[in-house]
Amino acid sequence: MSAEATNPATPGPMTPGAQRRRGRPRIDLRRLGRAALLGPAARDRLPDAIGHVAEAHRAHHPDADLDPLRRAYVLAESSHRGQMRKSGEPYITHPLAVTLILAELGAETTTLTASLLHDTVEDTEVTLDQVRAEFGEEVRYLVDGVTKLEKVDYGAAAEPETFRKMLVATGSDVRVMSIKLADRLHNMRTLGVMRPEKQERIAKVTKDVLIPLAERLGVQALKTELEDLVFAILHPGEYRHTRELIVNNASRTDDPLAEVRDEVRGVLREAGIQAEVLIRPRHFVSVHRVSRKRGDLRGADFGRLLVLVNEDADCYGVLGELHTCLTPVVSEFKDFIAVPKFNLYQSLHTAVARPDGQVVEVLVRTHQMHKVAEAGVIALGNPYAAPAEEQADTDGPRPADGERADPTRPGWLSRLLDWQEAAPDPDTFWSTLREDLAQDREITVFRPDGGTLGLPAGASCVDAAYAQYGEDAHACIGARVNGRLARLSTVLSDGDTVQLLMGQDPSSEPSREWLEHAHTPVARIAITRWLAAHPVPAAPPEAPAAAVRPSVDGPAARPAAADVVVDRPGATVRLAGCCTPVPPDAITAFSVRGGVVTVHRVECAGVTRMKGAGRAEVDVRWGDTTECRVTLVAESFGRPHLLADLTEAIALEGVAIVSATVEPPSQQRVRHTYTLQLPDAAHLPALMRAMRNVPGVFDVGRAQHQAGMP
Ligand code: MN
Repeated sequence: MSAEATNPATPGPMTPGAQRRRGRPRIDLRRLGRAALLGPAARDRLPDAIGHVAEAHRAHHPDADLDPLRRAYVLAESSHRGQMRKSGEPYITHPLAVTLILAELGAETTTLTASLLHDTVEDTEVTLDQVRAEFGEEVRYLVDGVTKLEKVDYGAAAEPETFRKMLVATGSDVRVMSIKLADRLHNMRTLGVMRPEKQERIAKVTKDVLIPLAERLGVQALKTELEDLVFAILHPGEYRHTRELIVNNASRTDDPLAEVRDEVRGVLREAGIQAEVLIRPRHFVSVHRVSRKRGDLRGADFGRLLVLVNEDADCYGVLGELHTCLTPVVSEFKDFIAVPKFNLYQSLHTAVARPDGQVVEVLVRTHQMHKVAEAGVIALGNPYAAPAEEQADTDGPRPADGERADPTRPGWLSRLLDWQEAAPDPDTFWSTLREDLAQDREITVFRPDGGTLGLPAGASCVDAAYAQYGEDAHACIGARVNGRLARLSTVLSDGDTVQLLMGQDPSSEPSREWLEHAHTPVARIAITRWLAAHPVPAAPPEAPAAAVRPSVDGPAARPAAADVVVDRPGATVRLAGCCTPVPPDAITAFSVRGGVVTVHRVECAGVTRMKGAGRAEVDVRWGDTTECRVTLVAESFGRPHLLADLTEAIALEGVAIVSATVEPPSQQRVRHTYTLQLPDAAHLPALMRAMRNVPGVFDVGRAQHQAGMP
């Protein structure tokens, strides 16, 4: 039986959800009302219990056929009959409550039908075949999608594998996740009867997995209530304190928000703009966040103004009036209409200052934007009723706004489904899923063909390569960012244009170092898998406690000579290509897969990131020998005497050439790869500068892997 319970986790008049629900008219269940609703033509009387659901559904979909709901209720009620929730209530109250949540958010009939049946296959004798026979394939698919895998079959892996199954099902039909989110919301609302440890465990999974999914699918209404319920369980002390702040504020006589609301109403009336101006109380977690940011809270901090208009253009009209007639706080202005967030959210955000210095935040949106902001994908109706060609973006370049073109299959979900395929083990899947979902702020980068890639903030060119090419990205040899050659370690910013340069050599290998710059699960898993399949021979574990000397050339870390650096005898040492440490740079190091130690300059961004990820630093110092061997790649425009000029520049710096390769020119470009022996590693920057000064050379970089590319 599914996790179910009784009464509110947080009793009393100020449960988090209650604050938001306050003021919403409760629907009267009188039979007369329902008879009027259904009209004389109803063949079968609608059972009393789904009156609420029917009414909420009809409010969004006046023409909906209620017969499937009636039949689904009858089947669910009869099959769950005799089962009780932990609270002692009949089990059917749970699917009914879940369905009401979805109906109020505007879900279409098929979702509601499946939602009524969502626990039947899991907990009763009803089978998926029976659901298909009576309700059709779509309903069967949705019920199957949310049906848990059995502990008997999967043991401890049951929960991760259930989520994996649900996400895969969501990839084909996003309505699966709508039902799961509503299911979790009702279970969280009624978690109070569970043991505290169990409450905490469920709250943590809700926080790590369900809330980010609600956010990404744009279902703000579910997300905020889930956040408050989790807050109450995981941080009871701070929750109580926040609740006190809200209660105390409610008892104040003056209300700055109401004063500004009235002022805004007056301004808009005078301007002839039709608008609803409402006060939206912040949810508990939001009040808590603001109080941590600003310290003492003032009245205006407890809510925001919401201005709802009819047309997109009115949004900017409202903005103009607010900025003209009130005192705008310009730094707070954000236009999420022109540039919608990845999760469909659209609004204008601004703020105005009162004469007493209090700042009131204002959201401006149309009624339609509001519906989408609250209900996200649930408000899309049947996503598959849309013209079929909108879905056909699997081959060839995506449309310019590819990340947002198909809200039922957003970019983050496609990427998630890609990497999960390569993570067969449930522990890897589960930890990677949580990590992936924690990367919530997305950036969009452009490809030269006009397509886009959505990536988490902090993503590098390595991430872009794997996002675009999957495992074929092993052959990536370089990148151009905004037209300029860039290291694959380059961290991308929102709006960058990224061109990935792919090698033709089928035996190209990813560099071990890429792992340090891979931020996304899809890249990390692909590289890790490749490395696991191509192990580096480990140094003998019982090697004498001699220091080692950095081996500078190439990614294929090799056992270093017993001469220099580390507190880890026998380790293979490699200098990181991202920051090219040379003596006497201050350095630190990290141990990476295969017993290799990579050395970075202490100020390298990679160091901060690895430390942030909890990686332990390895103690290193430069040895006495500063002679080093390095492989450099020079990118040039082809011209006569280039090779002679380059080799001369190198020789003039007193550096010996161990080997040199010149690739055939391609599109006027030539790549020279030199392996060089430097008498003093500290001389490397000067050497690279000298090579860059040779006419025609536009970039000189350290080779990042054996194929020899920057
Ligand atoms: Mn359920």
